[in-house]
Order: sequence, then C-alpha cells, then structure tokens
Amino acid sequence: MIKAITGTRDILPQDIPKWKYLENIVNGIFSKFNYKEIRTPIFEETALFARSIGETTDIVSKEMYSFIDRGGTSVTLKPEMTAAVVRALIEHSLEKKQSLNKFFYISPMFRQERPQAGRFRQFHQFGAEVLGSNDPLLDAEIIIMAYDILSSLGLKKIVVKINSLGVPESREKYKLILAEYLKKYHDKLSAQSKKRFDSNILRIFDSKENQDQKIMEHAPLLIEHLDDESLEHFEKVKVALLGANIPFEIDAKLVRGLDYYTHTTFEIVSRSVGSQSALCGGGRYNLLVKELGGGDIPGIGFAAGMERILLACENEKSFSVKEEEIDIYIVTLEKELIQKAYQFAVNLRRSGLIVDLDYLSRSVKAQMREANKASAKFVIFFGGNELNQKEIVMKDMKTGVQVNIKFDDVDKIIFTIKGR
Ligand code: AMP
Repeated sequence: MIKAITGTRDILPQDIPKWKYLENIVNGIFSKFNYKEIRTPIFEETALFARSIGETTDIVSKEMYSFIDRGGTSVTLKPEMTAAVVRALIEHSLEKKQSLNKFFYISPMFRQERPQAGRFRQFHQFGAEVLGSNDPLLDAEIIIMAYDILSSLGLKKIVVKINSLGVPESREKYKLILAEYLKKYHDKLSAQSKKRFDSNILRIFDSKENQDQKIMEHAPLLIEHLDDESLEHFEKVKVALLGANIPFEIDAKLVRGLDYYTHTTFEIVSRSVGSQSALCGGGRYNLLVKELGGGDIPGIGFAAGMERILLACENEKSFSVKEEEIDIYIVTLEKELIQKAYQFAVNLRRSGLIVDLDYLSRSVKAQMREANKASAKFVIFFGGNELNQKEIVMKDMKTGVQVNIKFDDVDKIIFTIKGR
C-alpha cells in the first residue's frame, strides 16, 4: 500500500473547520491592517533561496527539497516565503507602483527536517512582509498582528520575545568581541558550534547543546554593543508595543545569523506545546532586497507555523468550532421518487440551502440515521399521501415539530429554517 510521504499529512474533512477558523482570523486581522494577499508559485529556482536564506543555514545546507527538472534547471519547493515575496516585488517593480507594500500570505512550505510533534516536512505558514520603510512602527505592527492573531484564537500561554541585531557595522564590531570571548572556550564547544565559530558565529546562541549553552550564558551580548541609531530604533519599537498592550520580554540571545538582518527580531513561543515551542518568528531585513538584485528597499516580516498553532490551541482548548450542520436532509419515502426528490434537492440548493439526500436506496430508518449523522437541522419527508396533495412534511430535528408545506413553496421552507 502506498502511504503519504513521511512528514506530510492529510488534512481530513473533520479537521477542516478548525483550519478555516484559523484562516478566517488570519485574513481578518491582516486586512484590518491593510495588508494585501500575495500568492507565489510552490517552487522557485534554487538559487533564490540559496542567495537569500544563506548557504550556511540549516535550511539551505540540508533541508531543501531541490531537484533538477527536465529542462536541467535546479528548482526547490519553497521552504519559506520571504525570498519569494522579494523576488515578486523586484520582478514586477511593485515598489514603483506603491512606495510601501504590505503583503500577507498563507501557504504550504517544504523542509526535509526530522519529523516529530509540531515538525513536518510539508507544513503551512501564514505571515506578512512589509517592503519600503524602516519605520520602527512597522516592526511593532508586525509583532502586534502576530500577537493579535494568536490571542484572537484564544491562546493565553504565549510569550513575545524581542531583540535587536542593530546595523551590520556595530554587529561586525560585536562579532570580534564575541570571538575574543569564545576563543577561550573553543575546545569545549560542540562540533557544530566550532563550525559556526568560523561561518556564522552569532548562531552559536541558537545551539541546543548543553555545553554550548553553558558557555553562551556568560557571553557578551550584542544588545550591549549597539550603536545609538539602533538603540533608538529599538526603543521606538518597545514604546509602540507598550502602547498596544503587547506584553513582551527582551531576549538578548534571540539572533538570526544572517548578514542582511537588521534591527528587530522577534519570536512568539507557546508554553503549551513541548519542545517545538516557537509559534512564529520574524525580523527586519533591510539589506535583503539589494542582496537579491533589487533597490535599497528595507523590509520586515514574520512567519507563523499553522500546525503548531493549532496544536497549541488544542492543548489550551482555546476555541471550539461548531459542528458543520446541513439545513435539510431529504428522506425519500418511496424508491421510485428518488429522481423527483433529487430535482427538489437541486432546486433547494440553488435557493441557498445546504441539502443532502440518500444515494444508496436505503430504508427510511437508515436515511433518518444518516440525517442525524449529518447534523441536519430539518428533515423533509418526501412521498406518501402528502406528496399526492403536492405537500411535503418538514420536521425540526431539535424540537420534533412537524409542519406541512406546499411542495413548491420554497420561500416558506426557507422561512421555516431561518425562523428556527
Ligand atoms: P521559520 O521560517 O523557520 O522562522 O519558522 C517560522 C515558524 O514556522 C516556526 O515558528 C514554526 O511555527 C513554523 N515551522 C518552521 N518549520 C516547521 C516545520 N518543519 N514543521 C512545522 N512548522 C514549522
């Protein structure tokens, strides 16, 4: 038997209502902040991600689904969205039509990671990207939207962590200070951190290894070596967050080890989902557009993992969705009437009602069972003496009350349902 690929999942009909609930909240909040939806292809040229995310990152070095297509081009299933949005901005010169572009997206992503609870190989993210301004109010806006979405879902056990990476000049100076400190402990670092010492020293802060964490506990912090401009930017972000009643913590160890990241980084973690606790993360990337061949256009964005968010919602029982109901289940009393009942159902559906009926020639009893299973608000009995009188019997499944209605009086049928 062929099964779904490891790390991928079917989202079955029974789970769709909670996905739609989440998507509605996402759409609603982004549109209130006037963000416009963007949809980009599922795959891109591999070079796009290699150049934007960076060759030394885990994503590019070991997690991408890349393959050579039949034309000989190396393509990659998108592992994240920022690069694709920036590519689209540059390709369509969107900055010329609008100096500030605010985008949001909901999309599947692909990374060949080790699957575990909250970590998949195909997963879904929603997120936002703003291109065209370095205003710290936008850094705050991004965090406010992420927080508002999570709290609209009813999540309470969440923590917002923020940090600033400043501008590259002060960061380069700081890297020397960090290297000086780490030289003393170089032998004690894990193999991976030893590699990062040369390639991407800031990311040693991300290490989950005990030995590294002990050393990093006392490491000098970037935030203590920021220049005045960066500190002022960070201060404005904090003031805007306080003004919007966003509770936050400063996490000086929250780094994104890429050169084009600047100023704000943030993460929202959940205290209810175990080890894979990051629900979303983002930051400012003022140098990325240029890196990808575009103009000097600052940007900021975030991405949130939908599977993990839904897991957190489940663990916190933060919302419940109403069972999907249908308006009417038509119980056909005589088998030879099915054609007529079918036509009747089509007419009711075209009048806006959610209607179903039996396609398996089942007994009246079995049809009633089906009506209950489908959570039908009403059952229409189609047939018998009533039909000879051009009437149907309509039963309210909650109260048990039955009324006779003229077969062609669709308005009355609708009125009865709405009046319930
Ligand atoms: P990133 O793009 O790595 O900053 O991730 C942003 C968010 O996407 C994370 O906080 C997670 O919630 C989610 N995420 C990242 N990778 C995975 C994965 N493999 N499976 C499920 N969710 C993920």
